Order: sequence, then C-alpha cells, then structure tokens
Amino acid sequence: MSKRGEEKKLRARFEDTRKKRIAKYEEERPLIERLGTIFNADRYATTDFFCNTCKRDCTGTGYRQVLTLRKWLPTAWYVGTCPNGHKMIRRITDKNTDPYYYQSYMVQRQRNEMEDSFLTPDNPRFKLLYPDKYDELMKKDGQRTKN
Ligand SMILES: [Zn+2]
Repeated sequence: MSKRGEEKKLRARFEDTRKKRIAKYEEERPLIERLGTIFNADRYATTDFFCNTCKRDCTGTGYRQVLTLRKWLPTAWYVGTCPNGHKMIRRITDKNTDPYYYQSYMVQRQRNEMEDSFLTPDNPRFKLLYPDKYDELMKKDGQRTKN
C-alpha cells in the first residue's frame, strides 16, 4: 500500500476510535452524573420534609439511602422522621419529580409570594396587596392624561 493510502487508513481508524470514545462517554454520562449527585450528597443532612401522614412541613435530619437494584439507574433520597414518628422522604436523585414540591405548604406559600412579587398593576390582586402603590400609580396616570 502506498504511503498516502496507509496514512489515510490510519486517520480513518483514529477518527473512528475518537467517535466511539465520545459515544461511549455520552452513553455513560447520565450514570456518571447520577453517581456524582449521590456521592456528593452528605450522608446526613438537615433538610425540609413534608410529613404525608400529619400533612405538615417538618425540618429534620435525614440519612441518605441509596438503591442500586438497577445498576444503570441508582436512586437516592433522604429519610427523616417526623415528631410523631412517621417516615418522610426527600429525593436526592430525580429532584425535579420530588413530590415534596407540590405537597409542601411552605413551598406553596413561597410560590404565591413569588407570584405576588411579579404582579403587575393590571392584576386585581395588585390593588389588594399594594393599595398605596396602586393609588400612587393611578394618580400619576391621571396626571399624564390631563397633560
Ligand atoms: Zn408525621
């Protein structure tokens, strides 16, 4: 084989290996990230829980529990106990689907507060929450129409 031909073959093989390496990395990435999340989580953590039995928010210490039954999908969460002895869970992996976020009254309150802080004067709640600010805005608006 000519020198040029050999070089071409070598380049192709190199490129092929590189592509395979990237593909393998992409395939393993979700697992690597999950493992990172699990190992970076403290063994014990003081965190906010919601007791599903008492229907109340509780702050307490939970210990990390890891499930590796499915090797490609390890799952972890914190287990805490409410003052009445009920088991409470907070997810470490799959945080975005943690039921806590729609169960907790505290989160709901924070969500409402955030929505209120984004209110614009055309929303009826604005007048209710900030009557002074509303009056001030309306006064200015009135002046503008006069001029
Ligand atoms: Zn409870």
